[in-house]
Amino acid sequence: MESQTKNCQNCKKDFIIESDDFAFYEKIKVPAPTFCPECRLQRRLAWRNENGFHNRECGFCGKKIISIYSKDFNNVVYCGDCWYGDGWEAADHWQDIDFSKPFLTQFYELCKKVPAMDLFVTAPTLKNSQYCNMADNLKNCYFLYDGNFDENISYASGVYHSKDSLDLTMARKCELCYESITCVNCYKITHCQQCEDCMNVYFSFGLKGCNNCVGCVNLRQKSYCVFNKQYTKEEYEKYLSSLDLSSYKAIERFKETVINFWKKFPKKFMFGLQNLNVSGDYLEHSKNAKTCFGCANLEDSKFCSFIANGPLKTTYDFTHYGDNVELSYECLQSGDGISNCKLNWGVWTNSDNVEYSFSIHGCSSIFGCVGLKKKKYCILNKQYTKEEYEALVSKIIQHMNDVPYVDKRGIEYRYGEFFPDRNFAV
Ligand SMILES: [Zn+2]
Ligand SMILES: [Zn+2]
Repeated sequence: MESQTKNCQNCKKDFIIESDDFAFYEKIKVPAPTFCPECRLQRRLAWRNENGFHNRECGFCGKKIISIYSKDFNNVVYCGDCWYGDGWEAADHWQDIDFSKPFLTQFYELCKKVPAMDLFVTAPTLKNSQYCNMADNLKNCYFLYDGNFDENISYASGVYHSKDSLDLTMARKCELCYESITCVNCYKITHCQQCEDCMNVYFSFGLKGCNNCVGCVNLRQKSYCVFNKQYTKEEYEKYLSSLDLSSYKAIERFKETVINFWKKFPKKFMFGLQNLNVSGDYLEHSKNAKTCFGCANLEDSKFCSFIANGPLKTTYDFTHYGDNVELSYECLQSGDGISNCKLNWGVWTNSDNVEYSFSIHGCSSIFGCVGLKKKKYCILNKQYTKEEYEALVSKIIQHMNDVPYVDKRGIEYRYGEFFPDRNFAV
């Protein structure tokens, strides 16, 4: 199909759907979107609560917990141990489909009934890690949001496969690092941005393969440089010992000098490592990835963001976190081996063919479900046979198009639209 200009239902601005996009929508059997890419991203992100915590009690064991859900979201929230435990069954909260009401209204009713997990974490993989959210496989971490495979990391966000570091944002494979942003594979760096494969580097921007540098910009494979000037080892060591960074004030003063120096140099148009045919920013090891941000290991994908490790293939509109994903569309905080998953929030661990669902583990062929683990052929948490399931899903999709959900602004959500933010919805 030729590219087409559409008008976004939400912001009322025109946006273009390319012919490649139509091929993707056809392949995964969804209609073309009626929201523009930016509004689709906002619609997903509206559900994402990284660090707004609420005090609650576990609805199962009664212990005090912190949760990303306020009391007006879910009626019941369980702590990680109880949610992953065998003491309850989400399928007990099943509903029959009611064709007199919009489907999404019934899905929201189910969300209200099924206990939610306190945080967005894979609780059994967290060891001694408090106040961490959107995380898995952590050991001794504290106040870490969006992280996996980390050890001894505190006050950080978007940090993967790193250890023994503090105050990092968007870092991968870093060790003994502090106060740095968007750095990859670094050891003992502080106050750095966009550095890669560096060691003992301080207050530097855009360095690759450097060691023992201070206040430098855009250098490649250099050692003993200060403000981009080559020093001998002895001169460098003398400079370092004369540098007064003994107080917060002194550090702030030095930072100001450094940033003024950085400003004199051109910046690369994007931060990317080993990509082919990509657009966006903060992309690594990706191929044919368009309009993607903060992602690694993408292929043939578009409009994706915050993909921690990948691989993520032939997928559109996927936000966070995405390990081993293919042929999926409009998902938030999903991953760890999923395929053919569409329009979901939180689908994990070897799931396939999951649609319009929330907080799902290891399920296949389910539609409009909440909190299920290892189930097949369920709709609104009710068990069906394969034949019943397939017939009913076609009927529901038709019903979603005939009786769309309409939010209080009058926007219509037919099959293929991600669910609207509850603040707008009720
Ligand atoms: Zn829009
Ligand atoms: Zn509990």
